[in-house]
Amino acid sequence: MTKTVYVKNTPIGGGSRVTIQSMTNTPTADVEKTSRQISRLVAAGCDIVRLAVSSDAEVEACKQYIKDFDVPLVADIQFDHRLAVACSDIGFAKVRINPGNIGGEDGVKRVVQACKANRTAIRVGVNGGSLEGGVIGGGAEALAKSALKSVDKVRSYGFEDIVISVKSSDVRTMIEANRLVSQACDYPLHLGVTESGDVEGGTLKSAIGIGALLAMGIGDTIRVSLSGDPVEEVKAARNILRSVGLDKSFCELISCPTCSRCNYDLEGTVRELRRFTDGISVPLKVAVMGCIVNGPGEAKNADCGVAGGKDRAVLFCKGEIVKTVPQADILPEIKGLISKILAEKNQ
Ligand code: SF4
Repeated sequence: MTKTVYVKNTPIGGGSRVTIQSMTNTPTADVEKTSRQISRLVAAGCDIVRLAVSSDAEVEACKQYIKDFDVPLVADIQFDHRLAVACSDIGFAKVRINPGNIGGEDGVKRVVQACKANRTAIRVGVNGGSLEGGVIGGGAEALAKSALKSVDKVRSYGFEDIVISVKSSDVRTMIEANRLVSQACDYPLHLGVTESGDVEGGTLKSAIGIGALLAMGIGDTIRVSLSGDPVEEVKAARNILRSVGLDKSFCELISCPTCSRCNYDLEGTVRELRRFTDGISVPLKVAVMGCIVNGPGEAKNADCGVAGGKDRAVLFCKGEIVKTVPQADILPEIKGLISKILAEKNQ
C-alpha cells in the first residue's frame, strides 16, 4: 500500500483507482493547438495531462490551460529549476523533475520550497538515460538507486507529496527497477516504459511492462509512451487496465480463435459486436464461441453468449440456454440479449 498524493483533487496511490496519464506533443506555447489536444485527451479518458515547459513564454501560455481545464496538469521540467518554481507558482498540480539535472542542490531546494508553499506535488522521474550524479550503470539497480537518492534529496527539505517514476526502454529493467523501488519505500509509483516505440510495438512493450507490475499489485498511475497521437496512449492505457482487471466498466468480448469446427462467420460477428458494445460503461461479459467444444462453458460463464453448432447456434444468458437459433439470426439475437441485460442493469 502506497501513500496518497493528490494532484488537484485526483488521488494517486493509497489504493485509489489507477489513473491514466498522457502528455501533449503540440508546442506548449501554441494555446490553440495545445488546448485542442488537452480536450481530446480528456475526452478519451485521460485523468492527468502533462506538458513539457521549456521557456518563460511556455509558462505564460500554461496560465491559460490552468484557467480553462479542470483536469490536473503536470509541468515537465528539465534542467531549469526557475521554470519549475514558476510552474508551481502559477498553479500546476504537479511538477515532474529529475533532481539530477534541475540545477544542483540549490535548484532542488528552491523547487521543493515553492512546491511546499503552493501545495504542488512533485514527480521524481528518473530515466535510464539520465541517472542521478554518482550512480553508475544503466541496470535496474542503478535506476532504483538513482531514484531513491533523488527522493531522499527532496525529502531532506521536509517534502512528502512525492510520486516516483523509474523508466527504461528495456521492459525487464523497468519491471525490476520498479519492484526494487516499491520494496524500498511507500511513495506512489508512476509506471511507464519510456521511448517504447510506435503505436503497435510500443503498446505491446508497455502492456508487458506496465501490465506485469500492475498484476503484482505495483503501480498507482500509468503512462503509455508512444510515438504518435497521444490519444492512442490513453486508449492503450485503458486497455492495459482492462486486461489486468483494474477497469471493469466496459463490455468484455470473449471470443475463440476459431478452427475448422467453426461453421459461421465468427470474425464478422465479433467485429460487429465490438462496434455495438463500444460505448458500454457498465461491467458486461459477452462470449462469442465457434463450437460446442469450449463454447457452452465460456458462454455460460458470461452475461450472455453464443456457441455455434452445425447449422444452428445456442444462445446463453446468465448461465442458462435461452434458445437455439439459425446462424443467420446470431447477430440480431445476441444484440437483443445485450440490450435486454443493459436495460435490466439500468433499472
Ligand atoms: Fe475451435 Fe470450437 Fe475452440 Fe472455437 S471453440 S477454437 S471453433 S474448438
